[in-house]
Amino acid sequence: MRTADVIIVGGGIMGASAAFFLRQRGKSVILLERDLVGQKASGTNFGNVRRQGRYLHQLPLANRARAIWGALPELIGEDCEFIASGHLRVCYTREQADRLEAYARDARDYGLDLEMISANALRDRFPYIGREAIAGSYGPQDGHANPRLTAPAFGRAAARAGALVEENAEVLHIEKVGEDFRVEVRDRGIFRAPVVLITAGAWGGKLSAAFGEPVPISVHGPQMAVTEPLPYRIAPTIGVSTPHVHETVYFRQVTRGNIVYGGSTRGPASNETNRASVLPENTLGQMEQMRRVMPGLAAVNIIRVWSGVESYMADDLPVMGPSGKVPGLYYAFGFCGAGFQIGPGVGDVMAELIATGATSTPIEPYHIRRFAAQG
Ligand SMILES: Cc1cc2nc3c(=O)[nH]c(=O)nc-3n(C[C@H](O)[C@H](O)[C@H](O)COP(=O)(O)OP(=O)(O)OC[C@H]3O[C@@H](n4cnc5c(N)ncnc54)[C@H](O)[C@@H]3O)c2cc1C
Repeated sequence: MRTADVIIVGGGIMGASAAFFLRQRGKSVILLERDLVGQKASGTNFGNVRRQGRYLHQLPLANRARAIWGALPELIGEDCEFIASGHLRVCYTREQADRLEAYARDARDYGLDLEMISANALRDRFPYIGREAIAGSYGPQDGHANPRLTAPAFGRAAARAGALVEENAEVLHIEKVGEDFRVEVRDRGIFRAPVVLITAGAWGGKLSAAFGEPVPISVHGPQMAVTEPLPYRIAPTIGVSTPHVHETVYFRQVTRGNIVYGGSTRGPASNETNRASVLPENTLGQMEQMRRVMPGLAAVNIIRVWSGVESYMADDLPVMGPSGKVPGLYYAFGFCGAGFQIGPGVGDVMAELIATGATSTPIEPYHIRRFAAQG
């Protein structure tokens, strides 16, 4: 099969879930992935399935994604270790507590219920939280999942539903000839479709630029680490609300006992070498900040560190929607360090947009035309 209704370029969580949902809408699909499905940002991320803290305009998309996370076993036959064990954001200052409270109030209008918890109640409910935390905001329906399982599970489900999933298939060139796109793949020749969806993550900007739609994209590597197993005590994903990058830390404990953690300090990454690396000072600084949140944390060995190549847009918003220039061309890339939770929702929305010409979830702020002046 070398022709289909839709060719998807890039098999991260966006591309793999879009392939699955397009099949559900009866479209024939070819998914072309340069490496293995889910090997890049989608497989290396922290695994936070968090709506709390997202821009308010992104909450409808995040809610749609959250509904899919809860239905994964029925939809794709695997739960991807998603557990709705809650998401807790704590803060150290009154000013931040006010911000959390204002966000909780505003988010309610978008269907996200967050509970504000004051210092003493915080420690009653989560006894491991230290005295520096003066308040917390708790989202009971959020949680975490295993990123290494999720995009591949969508890829397999898409293949079972009839999509052609081609791994080790690097797209070298795309051009529109007549009504169809001609997609040249290294060592595989030409594939054709009237619709192309670019879900190429940190590499998406190169492909959009080739269609005269350049975007201000930069590439960084969020820093991740995991400890040896400890007795399982921490159910929610926990993060710190602070304007100071060096204070930011987030962590979660998997039921096997290991604590996975990361923070906003980033390391170098490249979409030329396709590598991201970890700076030891970031790992140690984040550990120090984790101890600040949870002072009783025992001396613990870090057993692995890693990073991933992630794309960040200058305005911190993704690119999602139709091309502003080329009919039949669609984009969903540039998810700015926060694409895992919304991933299944993005796939569903893009499938809806391609199949019906419209989407019931608003994605207008993410249209690529906002960068048109740079073209
Ligand atoms: C370390 C880290 C921690 C993160 N933590 C979180 C978190 O906790 N919660 C959250 O919501 N988000 C998190 N994110 C962000 C999230 O992982 C990403 O936003 C999301 O996975 C992006 O998915 P994607 O499918 O767009 O990109 P990717 O997963 O990068 O997929 C793009 C794919 O396109 C392929 N590709 C590129 N060019 C071509 C080509 N020419 N031909 C064929 N294939 C091509 C690539 O090989 C790649 O597999 C984190 C990211 C990182 C790196």
